[in-house]
Amino acid sequence: MSATFLNRPTTVEINLDELARNFHSAKAFIGQDARVMAVVKANAYGHGAVECSRRLEKEGVNWLAVAIPEEGIELRKAGIGCPILVLGGFWPGQESLILEYGLTPAIFDMRAAGLLDRAAKEKGITVNCHIKIDTGMGRVGVRYDRAAEFCDEFVTFENLRVEAVMTHFAAADDLNETDFTNAQMRRFDEILSVFALRGIDPDMVDLANSPAAVAHPLSVRDLVRLGGILYGLGGDVLPSGIEKPDLRPVMALTSKISLVKTVPSGETLGYGRTFTAERDSVIATVPIGYADGFPRSLSNSGSLIVRGAFAPIVGRVSMDWTLIDVTDVPDVRVDDDVIVIGSSGGLSINAEDIARLSGTISYEVTCGISSRIHRVFDPMN
Ligand SMILES: *Cc1c(COP(=O)(O)O)cnc(C)c1O
Repeated sequence: MSATFLNRPTTVEINLDELARNFHSAKAFIGQDARVMAVVKANAYGHGAVECSRRLEKEGVNWLAVAIPEEGIELRKAGIGCPILVLGGFWPGQESLILEYGLTPAIFDMRAAGLLDRAAKEKGITVNCHIKIDTGMGRVGVRYDRAAEFCDEFVTFENLRVEAVMTHFAAADDLNETDFTNAQMRRFDEILSVFALRGIDPDMVDLANSPAAVAHPLSVRDLVRLGGILYGLGGDVLPSGIEKPDLRPVMALTSKISLVKTVPSGETLGYGRTFTAERDSVIATVPIGYADGFPRSLSNSGSLIVRGAFAPIVGRVSMDWTLIDVTDVPDVRVDDDVIVIGSSGGLSINAEDIARLSGTISYEVTCGISSRIHRVFDPMN
């Protein structure tokens, strides 16, 4: 009666041609002179770090960035040769991995600098690092008002070389915060002169993430660090009402209907009985749940696309299953395609839509798609 599946039919499809397209579109918009560091942390925001990095490398990306050394090691083991920045630095004991795998750490504390310097000295090498300045994000980075002291101590490390100085914006996506963004740039430029006075002259400086690169052209210096827009996640992280590069989603998430049942008016559905059928209804069961990263906060809100129509989610999203009301969609059958993220017949649901309904941003939605979901890459690389 029905097809056989080798896998549970819930699948993430990653369109690497769209990734390449977004990369070139962003580059054309930002300016061909700016070098691009593609941020592929957190498994490329859920899109598959190895496959995305391989393709971006082929398209001419200059740098890759990951959050932790383990992510960089995964890329090296897959044969990625591009320079890789580890945005979050490393933890004590990992300095030998940084050297072994040829990773470039962001440095923002003296302890890490000391450990790396010693490890480099033992090997008789000099290692490049990127100094991260906190100009107002308050997260990782040498606080801008302590940068001079940091510099004085840093220059005593003979086996470390400052390849870049960088900072990160707190609110580049919000045009009401442009004064603050400009203040961050000013602080950063002051630090660069503090560094220059102490003999630190980096090959490059970089500030811009996706929203800054698009909305704050003055923040585009030698390099831009692009994450979200490469994956086509422009909708909720770029300010509205400004000119933007043409971006397309890279990820689609699809499934197939597992069961269809008729439910008489008055019955309740799912955990907590949060939905009551107000008419005789046709209900379809879809094999996706919060263990897959489909947010439980979409319970009784949002829709999936079936046979070219929106079918509302009914009842609680559970760990492995979600129910949709297909009463108004004619002829729904088992094995019908279901679109969770993607488009069909003029209708679309993107990660931004899901994020809005669940009170978050698109990045959290795509990052959250769990490894339980099978990922398919098209084309293969
Ligand atoms: C994650 C990250 C980025 C990328 O931000 P997007 O908004 O995805 O472009 C850039 N720089 C740093 C330091 C980051 O942590």
